[in-house]
Amino acid sequence: MRHIAFQIGDIILGPPIDLYQKLETQKKNIPILALTATANKSVVDDIQNNLNFKEKNLIKSTFLRENLSYVAINCNSKKKTLLNLLNKFKSSVIIYVSSRKESNEIALFLKNNNISSTSYHAGIDFKKRIKIQEEWTNNLIRVIVATNAFGLGINKEDIRLIIHMQIPMNMESYYQEAGRAGRDGKTAYSFILYDRLDFSKNIHNLNIWHPEIKSIQNIYQKICDYLQIGIHELPDEDFQFNISSFCNRYNLDIKQTFIIINFLEKEELIKLYDSKNIKSKIKIIISNAELYKFQIANSYFDSFIKILLRNYPNIYTNFVNIIETEIEKNLNTKTQSVRDILIKLEQKGVIKYKQNEVGMQLRFLQNRKDSEKLNISKEKILNKKKLAEEKLDIIIKYINNKNKCRSQNILKYFNEEVNERCNICDNCIAQKKKNLNDI
Ligand SMILES: [Zn+2]
Repeated sequence: MRHIAFQIGDIILGPPIDLYQKLETQKKNIPILALTATANKSVVDDIQNNLNFKEKNLIKSTFLRENLSYVAINCNSKKKTLLNLLNKFKSSVIIYVSSRKESNEIALFLKNNNISSTSYHAGIDFKKRIKIQEEWTNNLIRVIVATNAFGLGINKEDIRLIIHMQIPMNMESYYQEAGRAGRDGKTAYSFILYDRLDFSKNIHNLNIWHPEIKSIQNIYQKICDYLQIGIHELPDEDFQFNISSFCNRYNLDIKQTFIIINFLEKEELIKLYDSKNIKSKIKIIISNAELYKFQIANSYFDSFIKILLRNYPNIYTNFVNIIETEIEKNLNTKTQSVRDILIKLEQKGVIKYKQNEVGMQLRFLQNRKDSEKLNISKEKILNKKKLAEEKLDIIIKYINNKNKCRSQNILKYFNEEVNERCNICDNCIAQKKKNLNDI
């Protein structure tokens, strides 16, 4: 079993207490194996404590990547430095950025500079994302400009260069992303390009990712107003919910709203889902004999009904899932859409037609609460934010430290001590030059 017990990257999830409790009641003689890619000592201890390990038992390999050179550059112009790097290293490259917008912008900037590149983020259609990944894996595209949506399951060995266009939010995600370079064992480079504005940008992002209770209550209240849900009401239907229209109506920041909706989902108050995988349903609501009479009297619908009966034999007894485009393939005429014909049949009392809605749907999982009494733990929110601040602080110190070997510094974070400097990071190279000058 593989389960993310702690979200180490974005600090979105806390320990899933339910999972621990479930395991507690079921485990008895079931052996438990907890797996993690990057975790420091306190997280490892927490996992073992929460899973009630009888004795601490940790098997781990080293975090050392001898062939990886870590570099952090304080840039006057990030774009200029980026072009220089891409012209120097001609290999497959991943550039990590912090937003979809930036991903599109930088990919375009590189294309305009004749560098084969494409953007990759969660806003791009899933099938297209798979295609991009394939093209990049097969070296048809050289540079991928991605948000952190890209990376899981990537095992391309010949990446020589990873570039972060901003200061990462924590050491765990940086180490994982940087570590995608040089899997073939040959020398590879991981650059962080930053400027003085990045420090305040990271704090701004951290605040957005950790909204205050007041903001959470406000969005919940507005969702209820928008959908006209009264207090204590539990709607039995789902609502079409277009997040941009919602944000426009109340003049809300879309990213912040999305994060808060995500939070409300984790609290199991609401659920937002894409309806594109939900099929329409139909059922015939008159008897066999009545239907026969209807077909005689309405020859226009006769062939259409025959298609329905042939393709969906259970249509008399149950609602059956249908795909309108599949039915359309069997139709001779294309003058009217299948949806229109089904709507007419419903109006004539022959069928019941539950059309799938297109777009995002919102469902209330609990009856509507008074937004002031949402039962959200202020302490939990503050603790998560504090942890994220500490992690950000560590990586900022790492960036600003121009003496200590970066590899040693990273290893120390993961509680691993090595005596030897790596000799290939920017700090080690600067040290070597200094030593030479001192001779
Ligand atoms: Zn070093």
